[in-house]
Amino acid sequence: MQKGLPLREHARRPGPGLFDESGYMPKLRPRVTRSKAALDWPGSHPAPEKITSTANPRIRLLKSLHSKKGRNDSSLFLAEGARLLMEAAGAGHWPELVVFTDEAGARPAQREYLLAARRNGARLISVPSRLLTSICQRDNPQALIGAFRQWQTEIGDLPDREGALLLALHEIRDPGNLGAIIRTADAVGVDGVVLLGECVDPFSIEAVRASMGALFTVRVLRAGFAEFDHWRRARGIRLVAGTLRGTDLPEIVDYRGSIALLMGNEQKGLPEAMEAQVDYPVRIPMRGKADSLNLAVATGVLLYTAWRGRHYAET
Ligand code: SAM
Repeated sequence: MQKGLPLREHARRPGPGLFDESGYMPKLRPRVTRSKAALDWPGSHPAPEKITSTANPRIRLLKSLHSKKGRNDSSLFLAEGARLLMEAAGAGHWPELVVFTDEAGARPAQREYLLAARRNGARLISVPSRLLTSICQRDNPQALIGAFRQWQTEIGDLPDREGALLLALHEIRDPGNLGAIIRTADAVGVDGVVLLGECVDPFSIEAVRASMGALFTVRVLRAGFAEFDHWRRARGIRLVAGTLRGTDLPEIVDYRGSIALLMGNEQKGLPEAMEAQVDYPVRIPMRGKADSLNLAVATGVLLYTAWRGRHYAET
């Protein structure tokens, strides 16, 4: 990724040939019939490798990325689907390796993506669809799967700006929740998502799937609570917590100025010691029988309450 640009600028950076002048992807073009010409791979780069065996080491490597150990060993992670891969490219992220079916490789938009990925250093591998099923470990796999190198973001990479909106998640465990939250954080324009303590891996395939590409544009980082709390106090960032012990409605907070929203673990919520550091403990009213909302839903409600409190300002 080009250094020195804020992540949101990366998201708008045009990729070679794939994006219009504003940096956004044109709509996927309609399917065309596969032709001999469409399967030629022009240029000086190597033609795609063809793999048909599940025992091939590259296929075994891709399958290993379903486990944390496999991801740790290789520092790679999987992202599936043409749309998601193209969004990643729009944010300046190119895969190390892409596997695809010949049928997918013959579709103009996907082919254009593959050629651009190859120019950006990706190794292309064509496989029969049964191999994609075994890599994705689910039926009806996507026709394009990329293996990307993981990146690390530090607390010092968060933007130091007046009016920042941050989200901190204490020991979030469910990858689907995390992906959905990152997707909402992207929608609201959150400056960063801080994973506090033992959290699920944001590069797990379930989290990447649920984030719908937002993992590539939202800063996500890990920190201890003490480090985060110290960092935000030093910058005058007020801390709002979503908690069932909250005494106030979310709307009583003035969300203008810099704010961090803190949310608790799916089972245990927030530790009392953490809540003691919070400026505003807020509770979303509920009148049904359930004792709490799903974490991703509660986070969505509070992020939108915060953004509405800023009159949907862009920054
Ligand atoms: N048994 C846990 C407890 O007592 O906190 C429930 C955890 S809840 C499923 C997970 C997180 O979602 C909570 O820690 C809180 O951050 C958020 N949450 C859920 N319902 C909420 C509500 N009504 N108001 C504010 N936050 C809520």
